[in-house]
Amino acid sequence: MVAFFKFILFRSSILSQQSFSSLSLNSDLLSNLESLGYHEMTEIQAQSLPVILDGKDIIAQGKTGSGKTATFGLGLLQKLDVKRFRVQTLILCPTRELADQVGKEIRRLARSIHNIKVLTLCGGMPFGPQIGSLEHGAHIIVGTPGRIEDHLRKGTLNLDNVETLVLDEADRMLDMGFQDAIDNIIEQAPKERQTLLFSATFPEQIESIAGRILTNPVTIKVESTHDDQMINQYFYKVSNHEDRMLALRLLLLHYQPESSVVFCNTKREVQEVNDELVNRGFGSIALHGDLEQKDRDQALIRFANKSATILVATDVATRGLDIDNLSAVFNFHIAHDQEVHVHRIGRTGRAGNKGLAFSFYNQKDANRIIALEDYLDRTISEDALPSESVLDMLPPQSTMITIRIEGGKKQKIRPGDIVGALTADSGITFEQIGKIQVSANWSYIAVQREVIKVAFKKLSEGKLKGRKFRVMVVRG
Ligand code: ADP
Ligand code: MG
Repeated sequence: MVAFFKFILFRSSILSQQSFSSLSLNSDLLSNLESLGYHEMTEIQAQSLPVILDGKDIIAQGKTGSGKTATFGLGLLQKLDVKRFRVQTLILCPTRELADQVGKEIRRLARSIHNIKVLTLCGGMPFGPQIGSLEHGAHIIVGTPGRIEDHLRKGTLNLDNVETLVLDEADRMLDMGFQDAIDNIIEQAPKERQTLLFSATFPEQIESIAGRILTNPVTIKVESTHDDQMINQYFYKVSNHEDRMLALRLLLLHYQPESSVVFCNTKREVQEVNDELVNRGFGSIALHGDLEQKDRDQALIRFANKSATILVATDVATRGLDIDNLSAVFNFHIAHDQEVHVHRIGRTGRAGNKGLAFSFYNQKDANRIIALEDYLDRTISEDALPSESVLDMLPPQSTMITIRIEGGKKQKIRPGDIVGALTADSGITFEQIGKIQVSANWSYIAVQREVIKVAFKKLSEGKLKGRKFRVMVVRG
C-alpha cells in the first residue's frame, strides 16, 4: 500500500521564502494575492501547488493554520473556466462552520475573477433557498457531505462536470461518520477528475479511502510539530474528576489567561466541566456537536469577540476553526494521539506570543505519556500546581459582553448602522465597540462591559434604521 504513494518529505527550513510568482498562476490571481498580503507561500503551498497545477492528485498533511485552503483554492481557481457555467469544483468539509470559512477564503482568492459563483451547501439551513441558488447555477460548491448527498438524491445537484474534487479535513469527516456519504457522492462524480485530499492526521482509514478515490497521488507532509520554544508545556498528575477540576481552577486563577480552550474527550464531559466553571463564576462556554446550530454559532461568536474567556470543547467541534492564538490550552485529559496533542497545543503561542499548554494525566495514561515523550523528543515530569491560596481570587471577567439584535442583512442592517446607533449622541466611543457580525436575520455586537447598559438602551430605543428591533444581552 505504502509503495503506492510517492512520499515527499521536506523540512520547513529548506522551502521557506518562496514567492507565488514562481508558479504558473494567471496574473489576476497573482496580483490579488499581493493585495491580500500573501507575499510568500507557506510551506504546504510551496510543496503542493506545483504538483496541483501539474494536474496530479495529492494527499496533503499539514497542521491547522498552515494555509491549506489557499493551497487547493489557487489550484482549482487556476483551472476553472468561468465561461462554462457548470459545477466544476466540489469541496467537502466536515462542518458548516468550516464550509463557511472555506467558502469565504475561496471568494477572497477569486476576487479578481469576474462573475464567479461560489455556493455553500450545508445542513442546518433550509433547503428552499439552496435549491433556488442551485437553479441559478454555480462554478464551485462548498458543502458538508450530508447535505450534498441530500441534494444529489433530490436531483437538485449534478456533478457531471466536476473536474476538481477536494476533501478538506478528511480525517474529521471520517471521524464524524461521513464515510458512506463521501463514497456515495464520489460515485456520482466523473472518474476522470483531479482529487485533492487534505488531512491534519493520517490514520489508516485515510489511507484506505485514499486508495479508493485518488489516482497515483503525490503525498505531501509538512512538519507537524510546532516550535516548542514558544509554548510552555506543563503536565499535572491527577487521579479523578475532582482533581482535574481543582487543577483547572487553580491554573485559570493563577495564570488568568485572556482566552483559553479546555479540550475534553466527550460531549458529556464538555457540558460537565463547563457547568462547573460557570457555577464558579468563570466566563466559560461549551461547544460540542450536540448543541443546536444557533447555540454553536453563538458560542463561537461570543468566544471570538471576547465575551467569554474560556471555551470548553471537543476536538471535533474546534478543528480548523479560527480560534487560534489562544493564551492557553488545557488538555482535561491527555489526548489519545500525539498528533492530536500537538494540534491542540498548536493553537497557543502563535505569531511570536508565548503560549501555555496544561495537560492533565493519570496513572492509566503512562503509555500515552511515553509515546508523547518520544514524539516531542523531551522528558515529561510531573509539574507542581499553583498554591490553593489563589482560590480566594475572583475569576477574571471577560472584557466584552455580547448583544444580539433580531435583525440583520434582510432588514438592511449593516455594521455601520450599528456603530452609528451606538456612538450617536456620544455616550459610547468607537473604541468601546468590539466585533460586529451581521447575518441574514440577526446581528451580534460586542461592547465593553462598562458600557453594556448604555449600549443596550441605545440599540433597543429604536435608533437603528429608524426602527425598533428586539434586542437582548447574551449571557452564559
Ligand atoms: P489551514 O486550513 O491549513 O488550517 P487556512 O487555510 O485556514 O489554514 O489558513 C490559515 C490562515 O493563513 C488564514 O488566515 C489565511 O488567510 C492565511 N494564509 C494562507 N496562506 C497565506 C500566505 N501565503 N501568506 C499569508 N497568509 C496566508
Ligand atoms: Mg483548513
